[in-house]
Amino acid sequence: PRVLGIEGTAWAASAAVYDPEDGVYIETDAYQPESGGIDPSEAAEHMHNAIPEVVGTALDYAAGLSDGDPPIDAVAFSRGPGLGPCLRIVGTAARALAQSLDVPLIGVNHMVAHLEIGRHRSGFDSPVCLNASGANAHVLGFHNGRYQVLGETMDTGAGNAIDKFTRHVGWSHPGGPKVEEAAREGEYIELPYVVKGMDFSFSGIMSAAKQEYDAGTPVEDVCVGLQETIFAMLTEVAERALSLTGSNELVLGGGVGQNERLREMLAAMCDQRDAEFYAPEPRFLRDNAGMIAVLGATMYEAGDTIGIDESRIDSDFRPDQVPVTWRDEESV
Ligand code: ATP
Repeated sequence: PRVLGIEGTAWAASAAVYDPEDGVYIETDAYQPESGGIDPSEAAEHMHNAIPEVVGTALDYAAGLSDGDPPIDAVAFSRGPGLGPCLRIVGTAARALAQSLDVPLIGVNHMVAHLEIGRHRSGFDSPVCLNASGANAHVLGFHNGRYQVLGETMDTGAGNAIDKFTRHVGWSHPGGPKVEEAAREGEYIELPYVVKGMDFSFSGIMSAAKQEYDAGTPVEDVCVGLQETIFAMLTEVAERALSLTGSNELVLGGGVGQNERLREMLAAMCDQRDAEFYAPEPRFLRDNAGMIAVLGATMYEAGDTIGIDESRIDSDFRPDQVPVTWRDEESV
């Protein structure tokens, strides 16, 4: 099926067309805070202004693929988790479009989409997924017909911890790429490493990093410490998840996954245990509607569509609330 996907959990107002023959076309309009981090009401205003245009562009693209009327078979949208005001705008747009084109509506869990795009692109069967984004950090694995959260952050997301540090030193949002750049010039310093069982905590690292900077430690060195510590924690939990589930496939998701050092550490860990590692291309790592459209197509084929009346958004939508209707393999 050809599916239009709409994503808008936070900063990315994004629409995409997935066509099995043509591949994935993505159109994104990013919200860039003028100062500080993401402000929910500004993000919603951006979403409100940007969604009609990105959806229009994606629809025109779909219309150009063939003479079909309507040009798409279904509309998929991110139902959550994310910022409520942003999700509501996306939900309204998706419902209106599905109704006006008279095509089915598909409600996609944004976190499951991060995992499934990795599975789709890699061809892996039953991977564990490390999702490291701004607002989240968790490890997902398939068990008993659901994607279970095997481990997660106990406080802030991995990217948000980095962004809060960079805001403290006066760098513009998003901070991740700037930390990656600065870390190339620095020396490692030790910061608190906090993994408890399968869960991690980043708030202590963030405060310690700010203190180091305030005490005069070169910012490049703090950046190395931040990267090495946060990424080692993520790698440790990802490794334990592989070991617990017996899976030998790891996929990466989330905007922090664009970081080369993180990918290097995960690849090395997988190599040591003879597991396979796959990092999707950057356009599928950061928030994007491509992953919504691709999972939407899979769900459509499984008959997993929803009525307008049951399509409410859910800002705390957890992956394990999603019955995985499109997989029937034995759970790992
Ligand atoms: P989600 O809703 O999935 O939690 P999100 O809205 O937080 O997603 P993403 O696009 O997945 O957004 O991730 C954005 C985060 O990725 C930001 O915190 C940003 O600093 C971080 N990031 C981007 N590039 C890099 C990089 N090269 N290294 C580290 N972090 C990065």
